Amino acid sequence: MALIVQKFGGSSVADAESIKRVAKRIVETRKAGNDVVVAVSAMGDTTDELIDLAHEVTPLPDPREMDMLLTTGERISMALLAMAIKSMGVEARSYTGSQAGMITDAQHGSARIVDVTPVRLREALDDGAIVIVAGFQGFNRDTKDITTLGRGGSDTTAVALAAALGADVCEIYTDVDGIFTADPRVVPKAHKIDRVTSEEMLELAAAGAKVLYIRAVEYARRHGVTLHVRSSFNNNEGTWVVESIDGPNEGDTVEEPIITGVAGDLNEAKITVVGVPDVPGKAAEIFTIVAQTGANIDMIVQNVSAAATGLTDISFTLPKSEGEKVLTALRAGQGSAGFQSLQYDDQIGKLAVVGAGMRTSAGVSAQLFRALSDAGINIEMISTSEIRISVVTRADTLNEAMRVVHTAFGLDGEAEAVVYAGTGR
Ligand code: ADP
Ligand code: ASP
Ligand code: MG
Repeated sequence: MALIVQKFGGSSVADAESIKRVAKRIVETRKAGNDVVVAVSAMGDTTDELIDLAHEVTPLPDPREMDMLLTTGERISMALLAMAIKSMGVEARSYTGSQAGMITDAQHGSARIVDVTPVRLREALDDGAIVIVAGFQGFNRDTKDITTLGRGGSDTTAVALAAALGADVCEIYTDVDGIFTADPRVVPKAHKIDRVTSEEMLELAAAGAKVLYIRAVEYARRHGVTLHVRSSFNNNEGTWVVESIDGPNEGDTVEEPIITGVAGDLNEAKITVVGVPDVPGKAAEIFTIVAQTGANIDMIVQNVSAAATGLTDISFTLPKSEGEKVLTALRAGQGSAGFQSLQYDDQIGKLAVVGAGMRTSAGVSAQLFRALSDAGINIEMISTSEIRISVVTRADTLNEAMRVVHTAFGLDGEAEAVVYAGTGR
């Protein structure tokens, strides 16, 4: 008997009909002779709607109360899903994150899992029940408070359950057929990838491909959990996230491409620290201030200092949601750090091309920059890692940039990609 963890995202459980459809699928897996543990997201855009509601009440909602609010979304779907399964004559029990033993640190809004104690889940499995767990939530032992794992965190719940229970596979069900060479909502010619390495998936997720949450990919990699991303709307074979690709699969006719995928991100902003004295220690001082806010910064660029003034500019990107707190912290530190002013730009887009084949190929950057320049798209910042090149563009050119780059690297598929549901929010 296998143990299968299945995760259903919001667009797969958006209404009562969808919940019944998903329930049927779960029951089929159970009836095929497997133990089944399910992590479920909030219905449709519930989480976004709850966030909007909170901001109507107050511009800066209290983080603890925000987590109390947002975790209700997953409680609704877990209970409805368990009801739907029971009505089909199969035993099912739903559990909140804390009942399921998802122990996290105390960081509201982006808590990390520190332990999983699935005692009640094992008991339920031993009783022959299907287990339904509310995704995206946990519990901190010190504060005794409910936490959330960050947007997209139900993926992490599923992976953590799979690791703790020793599941054979963790299936991530969503509204597209698997992991594509780019977001099919933006690049209709994107095609599904059969297998992707966890290393590449980490880079794609970090660059904005929200089909898998980055922390879930990290967790799966660390704990050796096998991930299979598939559509909840059909039985098509999805995408396997694998440790390595050792040469072609039987049936593969082409060589591995240099670029595996293109990702885009419109949730980032750029801060420029203007007029920084070009002396040792200033970057350390500035980024210590930034680090103390806990913000996740990405690209950093420092200009050559002007000879006449000995001053330089330092720019970096970070999530828009963290812009305000970082600006506030930098303003407070301006006196000691000694820079002249701050600029904030939230109209940027970040594009990344990712591929393990880049390690052994020359000229990938040149090809990327050429494709963008042919389309008249200006590049504002560049950064590279071993298997990724990222550039910053204007926000309103990002989607076009993704399409032209996808074409330039020969990734366009023959048929138009299908998106089965969801609003793309
Ligand atoms: P869920 O609600 O199931 O968690 P998400 O909206 O979080 O779904 O993730 C699925 C969406 O991710 C797809 O509908 C698609 O628009 C987007 N996406 C972005 N990049 C990719 C990619 N490379 N492959 C597939 N989907 C992607
Ligand atoms: N409902 C949460 C969100 O929208 C968690 C998830 O769906 O993964 O981010
Ligand atoms: Mg998701």
